[in-house]
Amino acid sequence: MTNLCVSLTESTTEDMLSAMRSLPNHVDMVEFRIDYTPNPDVSALCRNKDRPIIVTNRPQREGGGFEGSEENRLSSLREAAEAGADFVDVELDSVSELGELAGQTRKIVSYHNFSETPANLENVYSRLADADPEVAKLAVMANDITDSIRVFDLLNAHRTELPLIALSMGEEGIATRILSGKFGAFLSFACLDEERSAAEGQVSFREMENLYRFSKIDANTEIYGVAADPVAHSMSPAIHNAAFAELGLNAVYLPLRVKQTRPFLDGYERLGLRGLSVTIPHKQSMVGLMDEVDELTERIGALNTINIRDGHRYGYNTDIAAALDSIERAAEHAGLAPLSDCTALVVGAGGAGRAIAYGLSPKVGRLVIANRTESRAENLAGELNAEWCGLDGMAEYEPDILINATSVGMHPRVEDSPVPREMLRPDMVVFDSVYNPIETRLLREAEQAGCTTAPGLEWFVNQGAAQLEIWTEREAPRKLMTEVVKRELGYGND
Ligand code: NAP
Repeated sequence: MTNLCVSLTESTTEDMLSAMRSLPNHVDMVEFRIDYTPNPDVSALCRNKDRPIIVTNRPQREGGGFEGSEENRLSSLREAAEAGADFVDVELDSVSELGELAGQTRKIVSYHNFSETPANLENVYSRLADADPEVAKLAVMANDITDSIRVFDLLNAHRTELPLIALSMGEEGIATRILSGKFGAFLSFACLDEERSAAEGQVSFREMENLYRFSKIDANTEIYGVAADPVAHSMSPAIHNAAFAELGLNAVYLPLRVKQTRPFLDGYERLGLRGLSVTIPHKQSMVGLMDEVDELTERIGALNTINIRDGHRYGYNTDIAAALDSIERAAEHAGLAPLSDCTALVVGAGGAGRAIAYGLSPKVGRLVIANRTESRAENLAGELNAEWCGLDGMAEYEPDILINATSVGMHPRVEDSPVPREMLRPDMVVFDSVYNPIETRLLREAEQAGCTTAPGLEWFVNQGAAQLEIWTEREAPRKLMTEVVKRELGYGND
């Protein structure tokens, strides 16, 4: 079993102890980072522990906060051993000076590199192993997500030889913290909260358990994730992890900051990746890495979903299918059948506009693209044999179906609308791509005008639900997924 260890960096001994006592039982260990505590009472920390502890006094040369003499630093670790610490962490370059420890205290011999993942990690591991540690720890900076692949490979190669902690620091290394249990590491570190993180990329202990279900991750856990750059604010981990938990599946969904698609996909597939959500900027470049793609992906040249089964990569576009589904249902509700008799106006010619226009093009009688930058409307219309106009020319088309595929109306400029109120008629369907806020000014005015509306939230949830259904072949818990999105957007559950 891989332990979850919270690193505490409080500034007084009392605060360290009360932070430890506040932690729930699923936190197996704590690390007292006494280099952040001026004048720590080391023996009080050890005597009052309520679970196994590591005492660490990291010097500044290894990225810590301790400024005093080496002799004082190593004395504090010897004192911790005498007072009953379960582990002390000593850096590879100081282990020979530390000498034998009192009692049962075990040595974690550690290596840190805050600038890179060294080319020869095996060499670093050998040096750690030669120091005869009870636990070896290696924490190295990931400058690219492929650096984390080398850390997983090291764990795979050596975890049975001695208890091993191997972590990639930084945003590109988050997967190594969450998946420590899948690869048999001795422990993973978490922080108390993001403001008090002891290392870049540490996830809070609450997120580790509540979001990623760290304690349930084992060798059989299937890996999924969202490949994007940037990825930090993606809501997809919250939605899909909640859905996996609801369905009782041994699977975890990670935020994966990917810069180069091919080496990432090859490496993570080898490690057990089963599926991906793909978003900006990789929707197009991933297509060429698939063995097979669905018809919508083929047509638009962009995918948002990858399913990997038996070494075969399948690409899908659930963005288009989910948007079409919402539009078709709203049109049916509004009595606009058949679609082939309808005029659809897509306002916006970016990623969302392209996807929706491609989806609607074979279905509707007349398709018009309007965009602020008129050349983009003209180009997209040219690809689809559609009509186009600038934003001031759109009213004359009197559309039956109006799509906002611009970001106008999105938080924080919630009082903006891409469409003048006068254009809205009661027999119209109005679809808004924007989902933050859930009720945009456009949707509010469309409802007041008696239109049938389809909110962006429904699109967002449905494209994610369709992904989950591809991966799991189970019905997605749409209600739960909607609640999670609302919660993430700051709305209540009602
Ligand atoms: P994008 O590729 O950056 O395209 C942005 C579009 O908005 C372009 O057509 C742009 O026109 C237009 N635009 C931006 N500011 C404007 C302004 N002040 N006035 C008029 N037009 C303006 O973005 P995207 O990926 O298509 O996303 C567009 C919106 O759809 C976003 O709000 C996004 O959150 C939402 N979306 C929702 C979902 C969902 O699942 N609900 C999925 C995808 C996207 P120019 O070409 O002139 O710059």
